[in-house]
Amino acid sequence: MNFLDNALNLIFPPVCGICGKIGKKYLCDKCKMNLTNSDIYLNQLQDYSNDKSNFIDEHFYLFSYTGIIREKILQYKFEDKTYLSNTISEFFMNNEKLYRFFKKYDIMEPIPISIARKKERGYNQSELIARKIKKLGIINLEKQILVKETDNRPQNGLNRKDRSQNVKNVYKVQNEQKIKDKRILLLDDVYTTGATANECAKILKQAGAKKVGILTIAKDFKKINI
Ligand SMILES: [Zn+2]
Repeated sequence: MNFLDNALNLIFPPVCGICGKIGKKYLCDKCKMNLTNSDIYLNQLQDYSNDKSNFIDEHFYLFSYTGIIREKILQYKFEDKTYLSNTISEFFMNNEKLYRFFKKYDIMEPIPISIARKKERGYNQSELIARKIKKLGIINLEKQILVKETDNRPQNGLNRKDRSQNVKNVYKVQNEQKIKDKRILLLDDVYTTGATANECAKILKQAGAKKVGILTIAKDFKKINI
């Protein structure tokens, strides 16, 4: 911690993002233990590399998108509770399975939100998490590869087919030389049908990326109507 962090901690001591207890951490030991022992903590790697219809090679997710985790992700995205990035990041730390996963990639790239959305919200939730992960020193962060040019409808409420349509031609790759033959790890908050991740992986591979995986906080298992 630097001087500024120390000074800020005196004024605003860290609060556990889950139970609200004031302490030394953004995730207290009790909540960390309870959640990592709960049945919504899956810490799972899903391999898609043999699925030819999928441009994503693999997906790592920590939680099932339900209960307190769903609640916290929604607060993080829509209620300006940016400190929750500290809480969520705690689950990425000291996770050996996840460390091995990171090592398979060269560059980490948060899935972008549109410029209009970023202006309105003030931050890209995936980028805040990516910055914390970068501090672990095992993977590089590159924010200038994918851009979201169009403000599409939110995926929420759309069926599987419409979700794929809704993300078509919305993202663009820039600085292609940075991804040539590279293994790219995308970062997002929730994975539902994978339409967004798949579209990003497709254009990244068309631009020369060798491999594309995705890391999300949670996976939504609810059934999306066809
Ligand atoms: Zn707590």
